[in-house]
Parts: sequence; C-alpha cells; structure tokens
Amino acid sequence: MLRRAFTALSALSLCIAAAPAFAETAEYFQVEGVTYDASVPTFEDHAGYEIGDRPVRYGDMIPYLRDLAERSDRISVETIGYSHELRPILTFTVTSPENHANLENIRATHLERLAGRAAPDAAPMVLWINFGVHGAETSSMDAAIPLLYHYASASGAEVEAQLDNAVMIFTVVYNPDGHARRIDHTETFWSYGENTDLNDAAHTMWIEARTNHYWFDLNRQWLLLTQPEAKAWIAKWHEWKPMVSADYHEMGSASPYYFHPGEELRRNPLIPERARELTKGIGERHAAYLDSQAHLYWTEGGFDNFYIGKGSTYPQINGSLGILFEAGAARGGAVETERGLVTTAENVRTQFRTALTTIQGSLDLRTEITAYQRDFFAENARQTERGGQTGWVFTAEGDPERAARFVRLLNMHDIEVSTLSANVTVDDRTYPAGSSFYVSMDQTNNRMVRGIFERFTEFDENVFYDVSGWTLPLAYDLDYAAVRGNAVRNAIGAAAEGAFQSAPVPDRASYGYVFDWSHSFAPRALNRLLSADLMVRATMEETAVRTTSGTVELGRGSIFVPFDRQETPREQIHAIMETIAAEDGVPVFAATSGLTPVTGRDLGASSIVRILEEPRVVLAYDGGLSRYDVGEVWWTLDYRHRMPVTLVEKSRLGSLDWTDYTHLVLVGSLDPQDAVLDEELTGSVLTWVEAGGTLIATRDAALWAQGAIQARKDAEAGEEPGAKDVAETAEAEAPESEAERLNFGDMGVRDAEHVIGGAIFAADLDTTHPLGFGYADRDLPVHRNVSFTLERPLDNPYAIPVQYSDNPLLTGYASERRQDEIGGSPSVVAQRMKAGAVILMADNPVFRGTYPGTEKLLMNAIFFSGLIDQPQGDYSDD
Ligand SMILES: [Zn+2]
Repeated sequence: MLRRAFTALSALSLCIAAAPAFAETAEYFQVEGVTYDASVPTFEDHAGYEIGDRPVRYGDMIPYLRDLAERSDRISVETIGYSHELRPILTFTVTSPENHANLENIRATHLERLAGRAAPDAAPMVLWINFGVHGAETSSMDAAIPLLYHYASASGAEVEAQLDNAVMIFTVVYNPDGHARRIDHTETFWSYGENTDLNDAAHTMWIEARTNHYWFDLNRQWLLLTQPEAKAWIAKWHEWKPMVSADYHEMGSASPYYFHPGEELRRNPLIPERARELTKGIGERHAAYLDSQAHLYWTEGGFDNFYIGKGSTYPQINGSLGILFEAGAARGGAVETERGLVTTAENVRTQFRTALTTIQGSLDLRTEITAYQRDFFAENARQTERGGQTGWVFTAEGDPERAARFVRLLNMHDIEVSTLSANVTVDDRTYPAGSSFYVSMDQTNNRMVRGIFERFTEFDENVFYDVSGWTLPLAYDLDYAAVRGNAVRNAIGAAAEGAFQSAPVPDRASYGYVFDWSHSFAPRALNRLLSADLMVRATMEETAVRTTSGTVELGRGSIFVPFDRQETPREQIHAIMETIAAEDGVPVFAATSGLTPVTGRDLGASSIVRILEEPRVVLAYDGGLSRYDVGEVWWTLDYRHRMPVTLVEKSRLGSLDWTDYTHLVLVGSLDPQDAVLDEELTGSVLTWVEAGGTLIATRDAALWAQGAIQARKDAEAGEEPGAKDVAETAEAEAPESEAERLNFGDMGVRDAEHVIGGAIFAADLDTTHPLGFGYADRDLPVHRNVSFTLERPLDNPYAIPVQYSDNPLLTGYASERRQDEIGGSPSVVAQRMKAGAVILMADNPVFRGTYPGTEKLLMNAIFFSGLIDQPQGDYSDD
C-alpha cells in the first residue's frame, strides 16, 4: 500500500515538474554579476517548487524567510503583531552584522539626527519596504523572497556598502489573512493546463483577498488604524521613522509597470514639493533597470497623494518619501492580456529589482534625503502656531470612551496629547477638566496634527483617487475647537494615554439596574443583557431614577433592567452588571425605587419605559453588495459590540425562514444596478417587514428600498406600479438645452466634477427620535460618498431623524451643484411599515470603521427599531 502511494505521488510530482511553463529558476531572480553563496538554500530548495510554478504558500514562505534570518547575521526577524485570524505579522531588519550589534544605538542616533541634534552621517540611512498589504497582489508579497535571499547570500562591494550604510526594514506579508485566502482560492482552481484566460476562476479572486479578515482595505488604514495589522505596523514605523517607505502593489493586468512620484496636482498641501523631486531622483534607478529590460512603464499619473491614509502618502506627511509601486497583476499565475502575456515570475523579479533600486537610489541621494528629513522636522518645529492658533481642545460629552479612543489614535500617530487640569472655555463652550484634552501645535509631529484636525474645502483639481475629506474629530463627533494664544496655558495637565476606563463596580440593587445610553459600549452592554434572556426596557423620555448613588439623571434610550418577573436569579443579573462596568466601561446604577422624581415617568410607565427585543440580524453580502460596506457592519457588530450576526449571501436570502430573524441589513453596492433584490425576494422581504421585521438599508440599497416600498404602496393603492417613477425619471433626464461644447482634453477632470469621492457633511439629528438616543447634541457630521438624495416621506413629518444642513459641506470636495442638492435633504428616513420598520440611510454610518459618531445610528437602528411609532394625526395639509 505504502509503496503504491509513493509511486503515485512520484508520478504526480513528475507531472507537475514537466509542466511549469511559467516558473523560473533561482538564477532568474539573481542580479547579474553578483556572487551568491551557494550554501544558502534557494526558495526552490526549500519548498520543492519554483516561483511562478504555483502559488507560494504562506506556510512555505514564512519558514523559508525565517530560515534565512536564522542563517544570516545580516538579517533579524521580529513578530510585530497578529492578524484577526491570529497569523503573525513579521518585519525583517537587514543591515551589516556590525550595525545589528548596535541597532538600538543607531535608532536613537537616527531620531536625534532628524531632530537636528546629530550629524547627518552619524547613523546609517533608515529605509522601509512594505510587502503584501493587499493579499491578492502576488508579486508585491513574493518579491520578499528573492530580496531576502539576495541579502542573505550576495557578496560584493555594492551589497556590502548597502548593508553598512542602511538599516533596511521589510514588513513581509503585512496582510496574512488576505494572503491565505488568495492561496486557498488559487489552489482550489489551480489546473495542470495553466490556464492564462483572465476569466478563469483561478484568476478571479480580488476583493476578498485584497482585504483583511473583516474585508477592510489595509491600504486605507494608515490614518484610521482600526485594524490589528495597521496598529502593529504603525508602531514599528514610528519607532524608526524611516527616510524612505516603499509600498508594493499590483493593479489591472493590462497596465505596464508604475512607480511614484504620483500626480503632480493631486498632492496633499501638507507634503513639501521637494518630496517629488527626490522621489523622481530615486526613480531614475528604477527607470534604468526597466530600460535595460526594454519594459514599458509609467510614472507621475493616475495615483495621487491626497488621502493621508495610504501607504505611499502617510509617510510623506511624516517626513519620509512614500513610494508606490504597481505591477500589472498576473493573478497568481500567468494571464494573457492586451499587452501580451503577464507572468508572476517576471512581476516578482521586477518588484524585487525595484526594491533594490529603491535602496541604491536612496543611498545615491543620501545627503539630500537626510537633509530633506531634517528640514521637514525643522519646519515642523517652527510651526508652533498657525495664524495665532496654538493647538486644539476636544471632549466627547457623556462618552469618555469616544474621546479616549481618539487619544489612543493620536498617540499611535506619535502625537502628544495632554489632559486638561482646569476647565477651559473656547468659542463659548466649556471644556471640562478631566474629560477634555489638548493637542499642542508645538510638537514634532504637528503636520500630522494639521492633517487630522484641519478641514479642506479648496482644491487645485477636483479629481480624487480616494476620499477628499477625513477630518477625524468630525468623524468621532467630538466637541472640538482651535485654541489661540495662551488660552489653555494654565490648564495643561499630564500626558494622556486614553486608556480604556472601567466603570466602578455597581452596588447591589434592590429594585433593578439602570444605565445611560450615551457610552460607546452601551450597545455591547445591552446585547449582553438581551442575549442572557433578561427582560430589558428602554426609556423614551429623559428621566431621573433613585439609586444607591442618589438621584441619577438619565437621557432617552437609557436601559432599565427591573427585578420584576425576571427568571434569572438576582445574583446572576448582578454578575452581568459587574461585567458591563468592568469590560464595557458603562457606569451601572442600582435602582432603589420605581417611583421617579419626574412626573409621569415612573419606571413602570410602560408607554415611556418600553420592552426591548433581542435582535437576530441577517447581514447580506455579495451579489454586487460592497464587501467593504458589509465588512464594516460585520466588524462593528461582531468585533466592537460582540453581537452575533448571520452573514447570508444575497442570492440565498430567498431560502431563509424569515420568522427566525428580526433585522435585515442591506448595504451599498459597487454598481448601483446591483443594489436590488429581485421581484420575488422584494415581495417576501417587504411582507416580512409588514409582519414585524426591520429593514436597514444604506447607500444605494436605501435608494432601491425607497423605490420598492413606493411601488408596493402604489400597487396597494391601485396605481400602475412604478408609472409615476418612470414619468418622473424621463422628465428629469430630458436635457434642458444642448450640451455645451467642451475640449476633449478636459474630459477627465470634467467627468469627476460632480462625483463625491468621500466628504463630511453637517446634519441635524433629532435627539428625541429613537435613532437619535444617546447623543449629547443635534449636530452630527456625516460621511458621504454617494451623489443621490433620498426622498422626503409626504405623510410622516417625524420620519427624518437626520437631515443635512442647508450649507452642509464641512470638509472635502463636493461641487456647488451637489452641495445644493444635498442641503436640506434627508440623511436618514425611518418609519413604521405596518408591524415592522424601514430605516433608510443615504450614507454608510460605519465607513471604514472610523465614524464612532454615526456608528450609534446603526446600533440604535438595530436595538430601538421597535420604538419608532407611527403618527396617528392628519398631516396631509401641513
Ligand atoms: Zn494593492
């Protein structure tokens, strides 16, 4: 038996060995004229297959690279963090053995040097290369293999000089979960025939592998830092503050090779002009290599440096040169494209060689780049104020965790934050001591402070590769203000770390427990109670409750767990309350009486203090729905609030037994055409809503749902379904006059004129509506990246909990026309539909997991949808 199995296996390996038309031997990845130490194993020695033969497995790559580090005194390896799926994220530090022995000293000297306190040549250059941010992009990961092999085994004057004169840090497989998903997919569809048709399943995995576990694009995370991979990497990056940061990617297969500098006009104003010139200088080296191969390539186009959360832009706001590389993807194998055959092996070699030219190109410009970084920070040091503005103050009323989370974010960006030791009043608002914070402009990294706090509404050109507005205090819905002069000088307290704060252990209650809804993790706390099968009530009005800590004022949406008729023993309820205080940080109070000091709002007033139901949420995915949007909702519910959510493929929704579920979340789509359910499914979903379900639809799905609901109402009223819509659409599309004649060359810019790539708008929130519970005030900044507007319901004046302000643009780009359309339109429409509820959100409330301000709208939509009442009056003439 054993022998037969062995023979079969040998035959199989022979078969594979005979076929790899696109594989390349180790020599292909070696540099001409360089001597390599033959005792260092090549990847094929280690793995048994060549690069390009088959997808390189994580399980083959990592042990090989670790083995190189083990053998070579030029390479050390460190685990800097773990992904959600608990795979390690590694950095390899490459430098001469002498530098390795002195590494901590070199780092300290380098940091002194950039502050102007050490000579330019007091330490080697510090260079950083980032591999594998996007798991789908094979060569941007696998290039680490020949690169580390090169430094483990090459000898000669050039390599020795590089090792002496630079500390090189390579992050390898920065997104291991995406990488693992890609390998699993390409192996599943791997074929002996080595199919080069781009349509073959082996080449179709893109978005799922691009992203991390929760489908976050990690190349948007440099600023936002919500995901573990980004947190790991930013800590290491700031530990070293490299002079050059290369970031490796792949793009559409048909495109020739690309490298930075990016679009000239689409540069963030916080980036010095000189960065482009130096990046161009390094680029001469890449061009020389690509010329030697007679390869096509392009530069200074397509990719911009505006949004500071990308791997090639963030470094540039932090004194480094960020360099983007993009290879036309071979999708893990080889593919036939309009520019001919594109292979993984060739892409890996090109990316490896441009990593080498990045290193040598940087060393060629050592004097200039060192001076550039020093000048950058010297300029920062001079910017201790801007027009009399010396810093920023902020707080989050009623929600210390939201402010603390922001402090943690600033600290991760190496921005110092102070607590306020005394109350400070700025612009008529008092920032209370203890729960308010101050960020001074007088600190090393003040350019990043500006990047995070300032608003941008004026641009040289209106074309954006990504969002144009990301002012983070708005995303966090903080109260904040610019501080002028010495307004806070006497109130600056200790450095703030933003540590998560547990609430005090609650007293034992005699009547029940209450807590306010304003805390970030109140939804997580509520979910603990409902999933423990407790009977829980929420207050529709502000009230006050007698507790062991005296009378406690409670806002709308506060949670009350009475002892009356609970089946769970009081001891057990108390234990859950202790967990809530400790792990969610929500202050819990022990109620002593059902009688309240507020008339008509006693805890047994069942129309005021209403019973809540445990939500059972279905989150639809795929079928054209945006994986990003789905992932953000999934992460919010599952990771942040630890509540179960059932992910169901859109095409399978029809087979669900809907009576098992209370909520369906439908998110926006990549193409608006896809944000639809077919007629039969629409019918069954709306019937389920009428029987008591809640539909929450965001972005394009909200637009679709609004149309579907109107069509159903029309059909019930006996009108021809959709007739009105069609007439209206035709009217809207009829051109008022002939199109103005324009120059063909302006098309790119004009096409983008009315696109909203992502900006933040001011909205007014009805804090008396269940969707507005837990908010301290009516001002709510909202992120938006769609251009349509929702319609205003004609028969229900209470159905718009969130509406855009009249002049809504706070930060980012939107054309005048779009601003006019959006001003005064609904951002959220929420109303009953018979026994159920429909909540339509024009925008994604959890965009990139970075909008703690609007996140609560989503949680309220889930927990409080049953509290939305239908008006009974006659409003037809109002
Ligand atoms: Zn990429």
